[in-house]
Amino acid sequence: MDHPTLLSPLGLQLPRRRALLRAAACLPAMALLPQAGIANDFWNRPRELWLYRKSTGEQVRETYWDDGRIIPEGYIRLCKLLRDVQAGQAVQMDIILLDIMRGVYGWFEAYGVTKPLIINSGYRNVHTNAVTEGAARNSMHTYGKATDLWMAGISTEYMARLGVYLSGGGVGYYAQKGFVHLDSGRLRVWRG
Ligand SMILES: [Zn+2]
Repeated sequence: MDHPTLLSPLGLQLPRRRALLRAAACLPAMALLPQAGIANDFWNRPRELWLYRKSTGEQVRETYWDDGRIIPEGYIRLCKLLRDVQAGQAVQMDIILLDIMRGVYGWFEAYGVTKPLIINSGYRNVHTNAVTEGAARNSMHTYGKATDLWMAGISTEYMARLGVYLSGGGVGYYAQKGFVHLDSGRLRVWRG
C-alpha cells in the first residue's frame, strides 16, 4: 500500500499520477448518483467540501477539484484540517476519499441541507493510531485514506446507509460513538 506523503508547509507535492487515474476511474460509478437526487453534472461542478473539526474549532470550506484538476490551495487546506491533530502532522489525503466525502456532502446539499461534515478523525500516524481506542492496527487512517465523521441532526444510521449506497470503499457504523468511518479501501461494511 502507498504511504502518504507529508505535506510541506511551504507548498504542495502533487499526488502521484496513479492516484489521479484512480480518481478518474472512480467517476462512472459515482455518476450513478443522479437517479437519487444529485444532478447529472454533479462531478463536473467544482468539488467543494465544508469540514468542521469540533475538537479544535477549525472549519474549512474549500473547493479541492475543478475543471478536471486539483485546486492546490483548497486541497491543502482540507488536508490540513484532516491532519493528525495529536501529532501535528498533515499528509496528502487520498483524492478518492475526498470524493466520497464530497458525495456525502453533495447528497445533503442536493436536498437543501448545507451543513459541515464534522470530522472526529482523518489522518493518523502509526503512533497516534496505536494509542487510539478501538483502532485497527493497519488502519486506513494511517494511509490518509479514512475519516470518521458525522453531521449535526443526521442519524449515524442514515450516514452509514448513505456511505454504503455511495460504494466508495469501507463503511464502519459506530452507532454508540455517534460517527461513521468512511475510507477509500476495499468495499466492506462493519459495525463498531
Ligand atoms: Zn475510522
